[in-house]
Amino acid sequence: MKIIVIGAGIIGMSTAWRLLQDGHEVTVLDSASSTGQGSSFANGAQLSYSYVAPLADPSVWRQLPKLLTDPASPVQFRPGADYFQYRWLLSFLAACNQRQAYETIERLGDLASRSRQLLHESEDLRTAEFNWSQTGKLVVYSAEPGLAAARRQADHQIASGTDKRALTTDECLTLEPALASIAHRLVGGLFSPGDETADALLLCRELERLITSPDKPATMLYDTRVERIRREGRKIAGLETSRGKMEADLYVLAAGVQSRALGRTAGINLPIYPIKGYSLSVPIASSAAAPSVSVTDIARKVVLARLGSTLRLAGAADLVGTDLKIDTRRTGQLIADAKADFPAAANWDDAVLWAGLRPATPTGQPIIGECGIDNLRLNVGHGALGFTLALGSADQLARDI
Ligand SMILES: Cc1cc2nc3c(=O)[nH]c(=O)nc-3n(C[C@H](O)[C@H](O)[C@H](O)COP(=O)(O)OP(=O)(O)OC[C@H]3O[C@@H](n4cnc5c(N)ncnc54)[C@H](O)[C@@H]3O)c2cc1C
Repeated sequence: MKIIVIGAGIIGMSTAWRLLQDGHEVTVLDSASSTGQGSSFANGAQLSYSYVAPLADPSVWRQLPKLLTDPASPVQFRPGADYFQYRWLLSFLAACNQRQAYETIERLGDLASRSRQLLHESEDLRTAEFNWSQTGKLVVYSAEPGLAAARRQADHQIASGTDKRALTTDECLTLEPALASIAHRLVGGLFSPGDETADALLLCRELERLITSPDKPATMLYDTRVERIRREGRKIAGLETSRGKMEADLYVLAAGVQSRALGRTAGINLPIYPIKGYSLSVPIASSAAAPSVSVTDIARKVVLARLGSTLRLAGAADLVGTDLKIDTRRTGQLIADAKADFPAAANWDDAVLWAGLRPATPTGQPIIGECGIDNLRLNVGHGALGFTLALGSADQLARDI
């Protein structure tokens, strides 16, 4: 079948890779001039297969006043004139209950473990170069109630077979000695040995290399903006692009945060809101002072990953619309915290700053597959976990074609 994938981020590239395995003729379109230039560019690098708790969690209610009013809070909300922002927020708050959180964790857990399995089973991907590291993920806590709640949620996952271990502070330090600089404020952690880290941009490039190899010839069309998905009744009749009209048997929408706007041109209303975050990438100055294990610091709401000789720190969740401008007040806070926590690991003032938008649905669950239009499939709304879920989501979509 002739298939056009809209979007060459980690979701679109994984989709193209997986569709080619089923013998389809694939073209990938992107408005950027190369792969991975959107949210997949410099994300937190976490392949957090067993840490898939959504943002929509019952604890949000308790934290809400602080989240909305404290300027140093890791989550920021700037009310805008956009009616959709409020509708999305209401749906998000409605999803902040235990039943929904467990349901989401279960669905994301399935997609994540499928992603992990595909990565581990593919000879092509295992031998690709994308700074893939399998040191596990250590989530550290600075407050007992948060740790206790996380343990309860972990018990739920452990009961369904996930390998997660509760660690004391001393055990955290034995596992990751670089945490010595913040030991004074830790109360313990949870370790997921099967979690991994990698560079999403490099994986996009490796996927491009694989899908354009002579035996698997996908067509990559960059600098090609899709202006409109032209719908006629229950069918897509073609795409109006900056290069003219394009047609295929089937279309896959994988345009990250832009999927909502593009979906609207075909009459579908996708509940995807951009949640802005930042990353810092900095050369490691002292290997001993920089974590080797992937670390998530719940108190700071940041993740740290080693990508070769670079340390990547990512954090912040700002509901401020689609503006990609770097807010130096937010990055300044991240840099100040990083300096205080891991002063010898890197010269944090030299960090390369990046802002990206997480394409988030209210529940945290992506939207994959059919959408009521016969020849259009969706692979959108992966929020804070798009890198982790990419291969599994692509697989789910491909299986249903
Ligand atoms: C700060 C931050 C940290 C994160 N950390 C992690 C992490 O540690 N682990 C994890 O799993 N996930 C993480 N994420 C989430 C993850 O990065 C995203 O979920 C993922 O990148 C989404 O991929 P995507 O392919 O859907 O979107 P994108 O990567 O944005 O790709 C969409 C593509 O569509 C193209 N496009 C858009 N509109 C059009 C159009 N009209 N015509 C043609 N092309 C178009 C864009 O140019 C873009 O290339 C993080 C995100 C952020 C912002």
